[in-house]
Amino acid sequence: MKISHRVANINGGGSDGWDVFLKARGMIAEGVAVTELTIGEHDIRTAAPILQEMHRSAMGGHTGYAMVPGINTLRDTVAARVQARTGVPTTRDNVIITPGGQAALFAAHSVACDPGDTALYIDPYYATYPGTIRAVSAVPQSVPAHAENAFQPRAADIAQAAEQGAKSLLVNSPNNPTGVVYSRETLDGIAQVCKAHDLWLISDEVYDTQVWTGDHLSPRALPGMADRTLVVGSMSKSHAMTGSRCGWIVGPQDVIANLVNLATNTTYGVPGYIQDAANFALNQGPQVEAEVSEPFRRRREKAMAVLAKQNTVSLVPAQGAMYLMLDIRATGLSGDDFANDLLDTHHIAVMPGESFGQAAAGHIRVAMTIDDDRFIAALETLCDFAAGLAGK
Ligand code: PMP
Repeated sequence: MKISHRVANINGGGSDGWDVFLKARGMIAEGVAVTELTIGEHDIRTAAPILQEMHRSAMGGHTGYAMVPGINTLRDTVAARVQARTGVPTTRDNVIITPGGQAALFAAHSVACDPGDTALYIDPYYATYPGTIRAVSAVPQSVPAHAENAFQPRAADIAQAAEQGAKSLLVNSPNNPTGVVYSRETLDGIAQVCKAHDLWLISDEVYDTQVWTGDHLSPRALPGMADRTLVVGSMSKSHAMTGSRCGWIVGPQDVIANLVNLATNTTYGVPGYIQDAANFALNQGPQVEAEVSEPFRRRREKAMAVLAKQNTVSLVPAQGAMYLMLDIRATGLSGDDFANDLLDTHHIAVMPGESFGQAAAGHIRVAMTIDDDRFIAALETLCDFAAGLAGK
C-alpha cells in the first residue's frame, strides 16, 4: 500500500536532525553513562498540587468529552493572562485550547495556508517546524538569522523571501535553539514585513516565562498586528507539564471559530481533567512559574562563569529559554562532527547546530536540563575538549 506523499515526505527526504540524540539513546540502552544535554525537558516533574488538582477533577467526573474549544474557565484564564501581559483586549473567543503547542503549530498553519502555499520560518529553528509545514501540504521556506547578527532575524531578509509570494511567517521568541529573545526593533521589522506582504504571523511563545534579560514582547501587541497574529502558547515549559499536552492558540475570533471546526474533526479537544489542572496551575500566579524556570536561570549564570575562563567556545547571548547556543567554529569542526566526537570521547550528548538549520552550522545547543554540578562538569569537559581540538 502506498503512503500519501504528504506524510511520507514530512522530513523532506533529509535527516530529521535527531541522529546524535538517537545515538546517545542507543548508548544509554547499552548501559553507557551518557550525560544527556540534548532535549528540552525539565529535570523536575509536574508539581504535586497540579497533579492533585488533575486527580480531583478526574475523580469528580471530569472524564467525559470536554468542550472542543476548551473549558470556559481555562479559556478565560488564558485570555486574562494574555491581556494582562500584552494589553491587547482578549476574551475566551480569542482562545482555543489544543493538545500542546505542537498541535497548535499544526492547527495555526492549517488555518493560514492552503496546499502549495509558501510558509516562511526562521533558521535556526525548532526541529519540527519544516515538518509541521509539510504536514499541512504547505511549502517550508527558511529565512536565515545570522550568527553575525546575534541570530536576530533581519526584516530585509524576511521581506526578500516574502516578495516571492508567501502566506505566513513563523517566529519563535524566546528562541529554541538559540536562546535569543527578539528585540523590539526585530519585532517591529517583522510586523512591518507582515503588513506589507499580507502575511499571517504565527508567533511561538512557549518559552515566554523563561526570559533572563529584557522583557518578553508579543508581536500581537504591535500596531495593526492583532488581526493577523496567531500566538502559540503551552503549559509544557512554564509549568513542567510536557506530558500533559496542553497548549493554546490566541488569535482573531473568526480564526478561532474556524480552528474549532478543525479541532472537531481532528483532536476533539483536550481532556477536561488536564484543562482543570492547567487552569489551577495558571492561577497559582507568577511565583510558581519563576520557581519552574529558576534552575535554568541559575545554570545559565554558572555556565557564563565557566565560559568566561576560556576562549575557544563562545556563547551566543543567552537571553531566554532552557538552552545555550555555543559557537565552536574555533575548533574547525562542524557542529555535527563536534557533537559526535564529544559523545564518542566523553559520553556527553549535545545537539549539533546543523540539526536546527544551516544558519546554526558550527554551533552546538546545550540543554540546561541536568543538575547543576553535573551540568557544570560537563561544560568544563566540553570546553577542554574544544580547546584540545583548537590546539590551545
Ligand atoms: N515550540 C518550541 C520552540 C518548542 O521548543 C517546543 C517543545 N520543545 C514546542 C513548540 C512544542 O511544545 P509542546 O507541544 O510540548 O507544547
